[in-house]
Amino acid sequence: MVPSPPPPAAATRPAFARWMGTTNQVTRTFLSAGAIPGLINLGGGLPDPSIFPTGRLAEFARRAVAEHPGEALGYGPIEGLAPLRDAVARRFSSPALPLTRANVLVTTSGMQGLDLLGKVLLDEGGLIAGQYPTYLGALDAWRPRAPSFRNLMLAAPGFDAEAALAGAQFAYAVPNFSNPTGRLVDLETRRALVAAAHRTGTWLVEDDPYGTLHYDGAPLPRLIDVSAQAAPGESYAGPVIYMGTLSKEIAPGLRIGWIVAAPAMIEALTLAKQGSDLCTSGVTQRVALSAIETGLVDEIRPALVALYRERRDALCAALGAHLSEWFDWEVPVGGMFVWALAKDPGFDTDALLTHALAAGICFSPSSVFDATGTNRRGMRLNFTLNPPERLDEGMRRLGLAVAAYRHG
Ligand code: PMP
Repeated sequence: MVPSPPPPAAATRPAFARWMGTTNQVTRTFLSAGAIPGLINLGGGLPDPSIFPTGRLAEFARRAVAEHPGEALGYGPIEGLAPLRDAVARRFSSPALPLTRANVLVTTSGMQGLDLLGKVLLDEGGLIAGQYPTYLGALDAWRPRAPSFRNLMLAAPGFDAEAALAGAQFAYAVPNFSNPTGRLVDLETRRALVAAAHRTGTWLVEDDPYGTLHYDGAPLPRLIDVSAQAAPGESYAGPVIYMGTLSKEIAPGLRIGWIVAAPAMIEALTLAKQGSDLCTSGVTQRVALSAIETGLVDEIRPALVALYRERRDALCAALGAHLSEWFDWEVPVGGMFVWALAKDPGFDTDALLTHALAAGICFSPSSVFDATGTNRRGMRLNFTLNPPERLDEGMRRLGLAVAAYRHG
């Protein structure tokens, strides 16, 4: 037998790519935090598993395999199964926004959509005009291209949308209940962003996982709807790239999302997806199709909204009881998060997190939603995963962590 060659010395071993040194370590921690005994996890954007419609989904999966074995278990079209693309097109179509299958790409959930957008739109070192603070998963997806970020302060008085978008390879916003702040972008700013996208010829990415988790008041029109009113046509060909997912409405384990955009953009994204995963799982595409076609998605929404509204109120009440001396926050009208900002501008929530973990509570610090990692004043608190009494206990523990931070 030929002896295998000795492994190369450490110095000559191939190194990891440069961007690996800039990855965020927080997401991985929070996705596995459930395994830490006793920890109250407010760090992720996680739905409550008790709402997953398990019986119906199991039946949809059984039927997918038994009745559509070719589609469910074989390779499928990169763009996604035609009936699912049609169902998504129907779901978002309106007289002002006529959509066809050519406007829809099925993705392996929202995260893949963000990754594909980086591949299609972003050159090395390119400029992204992104709502600030920014979803950390988007920063993760685009970091390998070492982009520069222009932070868009959408709620600032006198926000100049055209100047904000000029020169960017694309703009990015979560207009409905932003991750991390939970804020809603107002109608005037939506219109200004869309008008600026048309005028400057900039792609405008609308990431909308939370749009249907609306607790008070009426929903606002999506950017893609605003954009269609500005330029009606046979099939949508405007500058907005709309991203949706079933993760928050049904279950993230399905890993099903979609992009709705101009056919030319769908074509480009399809080529990028080819080099990513060839196609999204046929089993979960068929399950998603059944969930949409049978009305399951719409049926479970009222219960979901009622449950999460109660938890939002419980978290805000608990913040008031335990942390009002140190933090300010707004009550969000939808989504999954409360964004709390320290009254003291010198506060460091990265440092607080160490004390919080020791006290059995975790949150996402503001530094991870900032491309430069320098914003240390805020924290994102999730209210959907835990029942009211755990949220109250979590804020009590966080109060103890603040005391330890201040004295340590
Ligand atoms: N965009 C935003 C703003 C999100 O908050 C999330 C999930 N936290 C995603 C995209 C991706 O979700 P998924 O991949 O589960 O669809």
